[in-house]
Amino acid sequence: MQYLSVDEALDFILTAFNPLEAQPVEVGHALGRILAEDVLSPLNIPPFTNSAMDGYAIRAVDTAGATPESPARLRLVAEVAAGQVCDQILGPGMAIRIMTGAALPQGADAVVRFEDTTEGFFDFSITSPATFPGSKDSLTGNRHKPQEVGVYIQASPGLNVRQEGEDVQAGRLVLQAGTRLNPGHLGLLAAMGITTLGCARRPHVGILATGSELLEPGQPLTPGKIYNSNNPMLAALVVGCGAEAVMLGNASDNWEVIRSRLVEGLRLGVDLILTSGGVAVGDYDLLKQVLQAEGQLDMWQVRMRQGKPLAFGHLGGIPLLGLPGNPLAPLVSFELFARPAILKMQGLTPILAPLEANLAAPIHNPSGQRNFLRGKMGLQGTNLWVWPGETLKSSQLASLIESDCLIVAHEERSSYVPGDRIGIIPLYGPGLNQTNTMSRATNPTVTRINNS
Ligand code: AMP
Ligand code: MG
Repeated sequence: MQYLSVDEALDFILTAFNPLEAQPVEVGHALGRILAEDVLSPLNIPPFTNSAMDGYAIRAVDTAGATPESPARLRLVAEVAAGQVCDQILGPGMAIRIMTGAALPQGADAVVRFEDTTEGFFDFSITSPATFPGSKDSLTGNRHKPQEVGVYIQASPGLNVRQEGEDVQAGRLVLQAGTRLNPGHLGLLAAMGITTLGCARRPHVGILATGSELLEPGQPLTPGKIYNSNNPMLAALVVGCGAEAVMLGNASDNWEVIRSRLVEGLRLGVDLILTSGGVAVGDYDLLKQVLQAEGQLDMWQVRMRQGKPLAFGHLGGIPLLGLPGNPLAPLVSFELFARPAILKMQGLTPILAPLEANLAAPIHNPSGQRNFLRGKMGLQGTNLWVWPGETLKSSQLASLIESDCLIVAHEERSSYVPGDRIGIIPLYGPGLNQTNTMSRATNPTVTRINNS
């Protein structure tokens, strides 16, 4: 049996996980999914050369020397809107009225904005609509067909033109395997006309609470009982890293009940089981004995605070992480061990690399273990600061109201003072920890941050 440091435990646990198979996922359902394959663009974006402005398609050479005082006068021969293709070829001295996104007519090599033509300088108070190129009749709504337009600037070839493929060339590697798809990626995929992608299958993670004191929210609270808060928290954490939570309920501290719930999880085909409670040294802490008897216990206890009695093993060939029960411990252990494992199953290479912040209040860590404290981060100017949650709220669960990170106090260091650089691990993964409200500044020299 091994008694490992946090880093050793993570390495050990991760060796038990491999990327799951890929499956086709529709783009509309791919937010947050992790690509299992590289994506090459099947087409040029834009797919055809088009106008970047509302204005006039012209030949740049026809505007040589043009100024507001001496505009180039061009003959209007056609108009083209977005979605249309103009079959008129633009010859010398001609202009074609064009809207943003419309295909550039053959023969044109530049677009002059309305603002840079006689149309842009149109004075509504003194000129009649009939002289306004392309203006609409105020009564009929019909457009007057002007004969010509004056161009006030000398255009160079390519002005206000989006060339075919200038954004993305066909065949270009656009997104690499292992990318977690965000809304921008989904837009890009749609622009390439892609409807389905290969993504790693979502891991199915069984969640079981243990403890004879547990009731489910909604049941009447009776003496000696508490509500099971670990299951909803773990389910949300699991879903937040792209996996599916398979709820296995709560089991009393009874060998047979625990065993049958775990077996039910295996029957449902989970890829990982997370349990909470029952892994310490209490008389009724049966989880690891059940694991030892029915499967194998590979690892127990990690040199850390908040979560030391972590157990890891296998049951029916399926990995099981036995998290301690005390509500903060499963949160910390999840972030340190379960999240990396779940991400690895989706094809990511997880590394535990804390960010660094300036510490806003002292920390004492005489335990000789790595201590993960709850914290609240906030920017002051361009500097990231972190306030230890323990100084915000002393109670355990209530500190989660404000915490958005874990502060990593190292085992070799017994104290930190304000201003020290210290490692922090954002809670809840990317994108979900964006609240930025400090209710109480703990260091008088540090201004309170409140972006709400
Ligand atoms: P254990 O790890 O089973 O010794 O539990 C440690 C502490 O966490 C005890 O006070 C339990 O009542 C509490 N606890 C265990 N499981 C849960 C749970 N699912 N929800 C809330 N508290 C729990
Ligand atoms: Mg218990």
